[in-house]
Amino acid sequence: MGSEKKILILGAGPTGLGAAWRLTELGHTDWHLCEATSRPGGLAGSVTDERGYTWDHGGHIQFSHYEYFDRLMDSLLGDAWIRRERESWVWIMDRFVPYPFQANIRHLPREALWECIEGLLHRPTAESRPEDFESFIRALFGEGIAKHFMMPYNCKVWAHEPRTMSAHWVGDRVAPVDLERVLRNIILKRDEVSWGPNNTFRFPERGGTGTIWRELAHRLPQDQISYRAKLTALDTERRVAQFSDGSERTCDVLISTIPLNRLVKIAGLDDLRPAAKALAFSATHVIGVGVRGAPGEHLRTKCWMYFPESNSPFYRVTVFSNYSPNNVPDITREWSLMAEVSESAHRPVDVECIVEDTLAGMEATRLIESRDDVENIYHRRLPMGYPVPTLTRDAALEALLPALQARGIFSRGRFGAWKYEVSNQDHALMQGVECAEHLLLGAEEETVWRPDHVNSGGARHRSVES
Ligand SMILES: Cc1cc2nc3c(=O)[nH]c(=O)nc-3n(C[C@H](O)[C@H](O)[C@H](O)COP(=O)(O)OP(=O)(O)OC[C@H]3O[C@@H](n4cnc5c(N)ncnc54)[C@H](O)[C@@H]3O)c2cc1C
Repeated sequence: MGSEKKILILGAGPTGLGAAWRLTELGHTDWHLCEATSRPGGLAGSVTDERGYTWDHGGHIQFSHYEYFDRLMDSLLGDAWIRRERESWVWIMDRFVPYPFQANIRHLPREALWECIEGLLHRPTAESRPEDFESFIRALFGEGIAKHFMMPYNCKVWAHEPRTMSAHWVGDRVAPVDLERVLRNIILKRDEVSWGPNNTFRFPERGGTGTIWRELAHRLPQDQISYRAKLTALDTERRVAQFSDGSERTCDVLISTIPLNRLVKIAGLDDLRPAAKALAFSATHVIGVGVRGAPGEHLRTKCWMYFPESNSPFYRVTVFSNYSPNNVPDITREWSLMAEVSESAHRPVDVECIVEDTLAGMEATRLIESRDDVENIYHRRLPMGYPVPTLTRDAALEALLPALQARGIFSRGRFGAWKYEVSNQDHALMQGVECAEHLLLGAEEETVWRPDHVNSGGARHRSVES
């Protein structure tokens, strides 16, 4: 494929913007980007509400597996970043245990601690990695940690049973367990808190995570971006796309970052419908809570907290005013929490009650002293929040992605490629960047096709021609 190709990009989230940015960097001008909403950012966007509180669509932080991504972030916001060390915790049995839970079980009551150790000692000796996520959890962490944290937490966050999920996506996303270190931490009373790729992160000083993507969109040629242009029909034979603003565009190649199941439906690709139907997802409720005063001493430096227990509907809460003081109108007078609740057909949510249940959960878990202190509530339901890596996902993707590619459609991004393991902002941007490089330079797309490789650091020093 050469530089004369007419390229149409669907969606102005990190993936679509990444593709447009890289095409422009490489000197390819014949592209156009269509976005359904009135602004860029997609799930990584932010809003500032009427009272002046800023909210992300769930707690977003910047961390990266790629130098290209880091350099771009540096250039986009310059000094306007706040750098933070991750301070994340698990609220369980009426106390905070530092994350990762499995390394810090010394904080548990004696009985539960013993159950966790006993489970670790009697872990089954699996010959090969288990196929399903529940067996993987039990084999890796033992029955005690599975019972107290891993199973209830994962049921909450995915809104799907772990036994229906695959174990193959895990990679660097779940901290492994080293029994010797666990015992050492217990006996020497040590905490181990710096595990993982996101142990330090950065956050925009102003405007939330969405500032990054607004800035990137702003640097692209504005006449090549159409907002409020939602794809409504797609003729894949003639490569003609129709949009809600009445426009019609032809292309040689389509980079689609809209949800894969919707693309198949809109394009009327009946042969691909069964595979598209096998793709599972959960919705996410984001509930922002503005509170008068200052956070309790126990929350002063915390970033986010995980909640595996049933005394709250949320699986995670971020102390969002700790990310940037500008996330609230006046940090000397108020602070903010942002809760996330997952929903699916397997784990329904009563939308009428979810705000009330969240406030009750915040009281029960001592995040707020009283709801009388709450001065602002923000609630948004994201119909598609998490692409769930079920046991049937990979077969479905093997049927879908190459078949679309044969029709000149590159479906990429969080819900475009449906691979949770490469669906953070850095991965998403790079899926767009790599797709552009593939189209213009014939380069391999590592992120979408080799997630384990990029997540284990393989893509960090990739060389890119420009
Ligand atoms: C609760 C939550 C927490 C997260 N936390 C983090 C985090 O801490 N760190 C991190 O790096 N990432 C995080 N993410 C992931 C991050 O949001 C994604 O990586 C990123 O937004 C994916 O970008 P994308 O461009 O692939 O998709 P999206 O952001 O979904 O963008 C797709 C775009 O396509 C548009 N679109 C949809 N349909 C159409 C249509 N028919 N026609 C035209 N346009 C259409 C949408 O409006 C949207 O703008 C989180 C996500 C969620 C939901």
